[in-house]
Amino acid sequence: MGIKNNIEKFRSELKPYGAKLIAVSKTHPAEKIREAYESGQRIFGENKVQEMVEKQSQLAPDLEWHLIGHLQRNKVKYIAPFVSLIHSVDSMKLLDEINKQGKRYNKVIPCLLQVYIAREETKFGLDFRELYQFIQAPEVKTYEFVLVNGLMGMATLTEEETQIRDEFRSLRQVFDELKQLSLPSNFNMKELSMGMSSDYQIALDEGSTMVRIGTAIFGSRKISDEPS
Ligand SMILES: *Cc1c(COP(=O)(O)O)cnc(C)c1O
Repeated sequence: MGIKNNIEKFRSELKPYGAKLIAVSKTHPAEKIREAYESGQRIFGENKVQEMVEKQSQLAPDLEWHLIGHLQRNKVKYIAPFVSLIHSVDSMKLLDEINKQGKRYNKVIPCLLQVYIAREETKFGLDFRELYQFIQAPEVKTYEFVLVNGLMGMATLTEEETQIRDEFRSLRQVFDELKQLSLPSNFNMKELSMGMSSDYQIALDEGSTMVRIGTAIFGSRKISDEPS
């Protein structure tokens, strides 16, 4: 198949949905990213700060870098100058730090709130109750250097299609509910990041606007990509 063919396949599959393709390049070398770039792909997702910083320095300046993995507060400073979207905001302390770093670089940093929808212990994110508390917290509207562009969620890793669909649908419903609320001015609920190689078709059916695809573009990952 090859990276170019895979990118083209996704481009045509996503077109009817108007969804964006995030090519998840974690663990893959810069040359593979270059190959995707030459096929016209511009948005790349990484889950580790150090790896993203290293690749960013080796590649063209018009790539858009999305941080999709758990982000530690002390590492925000390394990605703040160039990151295009942080998908994984799951605490106020993290958002506060992103705001500080945005201020330092005089740059508004787009973020998504990661919501916990899976029936699994290991996934990061806010549950629905925490999400509503988060949005109503008084400090949120004071963050002038962040823009909350939407929500991100990961479904349970299972073969049970109905379960995956239920989880994505629940996130979509909350997303739609939030859009009806009068949110702070640094909110613009337009992106719903859900779907990976194994479940993107379900995610698209349930209203995803961004799919994060690694394996189905770049092939399997040989080295561990678990959070360290
Ligand atoms: C690795 C990863 C993906 C991509 O997973 P694939 O199954 O390889 O498509 C998507 N989202 C997050 C948060 C990831 O860590």
